[in-house]
Amino acid sequence: MPDIVRCHSCDGYGWYEDPFTGEAGDCDWCDGVGYVYWIDGIDKKIPKADYGAVADKLEKLEQARMRELGYTGDAKHPKDQAIRKQDVD
Ligand SMILES: [Zn+2]
Repeated sequence: MPDIVRCHSCDGYGWYEDPFTGEAGDCDWCDGVGYVYWIDGIDKKIPKADYGAVADKLEKLEQARMRELGYTGDAKHPKDQAIRKQDVD
């Protein structure tokens, strides 16, 4: 299976906002997937027929992207939050 990379057009969001009209729509570059194949230095849309096969990989990439954006993916129990681990004297 080819490498999968973040779509450079929409940066993984899967949609694109027209800077002139403000209209948002599916990214043309990746068909709204947010990711594309990377084959010999060229990016290529992931065909719909491959979605099932790449779903797990896309999920992992998406989780990594969300972490970059600051989402942890799950809520922390209050006692696990860093701020509550500080010593309070
Ligand atoms: Zn895209």
